[in-house]
Amino acid sequence: MLEELSCTCEHCDQSLESDRLILSMRTEDGTRRAYECDCGAVTITIVSDDGAEIGRPANR
Ligand SMILES: [Zn+2]
Repeated sequence: MLEELSCTCEHCDQSLESDRLILSMRTEDGTRRAYECDCGAVTITIVSDDGAEIGRPANR
């Protein structure tokens, strides 16, 4: 299981590390995380309680 889950910016494909995390919010589906990239784009991911990335809200 991964402790640190990183993702990539959906705008410029740059990897987004935990220091880019601007918001983390727990929901029924898991933890919703928002990352802000250097380019200014905000990428949102949802991570389930077991650590697996479920996907992005727009894809559901
Ligand atoms: Zn970016």
